[in-house]
Amino acid sequence: MSLDVQALRAQFPILDQQIDGKPLVYLDNAATTQKPQAVIDALMAFYTQCNANVHRGAHHLSDESTRRYEKARDSVAAFINAGAREEVIWTSGTTEAINIVANGLAQKLNPGDEVVATELEHHANLVTWQQACKKAGATLKIAPIFDSGELDVQAFEALLTDNTKMVAFPHVSNALGTVNPIVELTRMAKKVGAWVLVDGAQGIAHGGVDVQSIGCDFYAFSGHKLFGPTGIGVLWGKKEVLENWPVWQVGGEMISDVTYQSATWGALPNRLEAGTPNIAGAIGLGAAVTWFDSLNTDDVRAHEQQLLAAATEQAQALDGMRIIGTAPEKVGVLSFMLGDAHPADVGFILDRQGVAIRTGDNCAQPLMKRFGIPGTARASFSIYNTLEEVDMLFSALKKAKMMLA
Ligand code: PMP
Repeated sequence: MSLDVQALRAQFPILDQQIDGKPLVYLDNAATTQKPQAVIDALMAFYTQCNANVHRGAHHLSDESTRRYEKARDSVAAFINAGAREEVIWTSGTTEAINIVANGLAQKLNPGDEVVATELEHHANLVTWQQACKKAGATLKIAPIFDSGELDVQAFEALLTDNTKMVAFPHVSNALGTVNPIVELTRMAKKVGAWVLVDGAQGIAHGGVDVQSIGCDFYAFSGHKLFGPTGIGVLWGKKEVLENWPVWQVGGEMISDVTYQSATWGALPNRLEAGTPNIAGAIGLGAAVTWFDSLNTDDVRAHEQQLLAAATEQAQALDGMRIIGTAPEKVGVLSFMLGDAHPADVGFILDRQGVAIRTGDNCAQPLMKRFGIPGTARASFSIYNTLEEVDMLFSALKKAKMMLA
């Protein structure tokens, strides 16, 4: 079986529009994915049928809102094969999820301790650890990549010592598309007894994430890159680790007993979820994972690989186009430079032709510096993109090349 892409596209109302008289070609999926009708309907149903605060109402709407909200947690727990539902902590996104872990880590680190990350990091999985290390007087070590964008796994392993307390790496690089061997990296980090956080922002939308089989302690992702709403994300953590992790924000929902002078914390998941949560967002994300789970993961991957292969072939044939990121294991991300043209100019010309891509430093300035470039133009593919759209990208690029020559 292969994906019925036209039937899929029909479920995404936003895709059916023209930009300046040209059909929209949406190739900025690594920044955020579009939302299927199932997710839009779930959000609409929440606000039109049962909007109320969760966990505290003595009335029907609150009960129904709580039921949908907690059902969404069950859906996400099943989707990533969490060991228990309370291991799923709602956050505002990957960034907040990593901040929760880094903030707690800063309280656990001592001078001389080490944190290991990689050259591939998004700022969210780098600046967080920099700050934690600075607060604690610990050292941040960065594992190198090869020029292809593939992680140098041997060099990574060589950085791990008995002082390593936390190891963090992306499942998939947003800038280059590299897929890391996360099970192998986790196994190496576990040999020195470190905690492991996988930044799953880009890994989650390709299907088949099983947090238990990875063996990591934390896996973070955002709803909006998984066909869900913005403002909602997940920190998954092993129960025994989360139970002992310093609390993040304090306030309502997360407490057990409070006096005017002190407070004790509640149980998971609430102890890490202070305040009124993003109820609609969680429900929307629950709908998104249920929707995405109905697709066959092998079909999803095969389709993305087909798009990537077609795009790579055309890129290699286009004079002056330099692909940044050629690791053997990649998702559907094509980062590139077009001759000497500034990526922003390329993006602008493509936009006039209805083609939406990302341009800039990809929130990975150190990585761009490593390649000696200001940034890239980046086309990123999702399940609803077609081979015709790859062709449209390249005819727009040829026009851009002529205009910028
Ligand atoms: N890590 C990676 C690899 C990402 O691609 C992103 C989003 N671009 C983030 C972290 C941060 O995600 P968010 O902005 O949704 O918190």
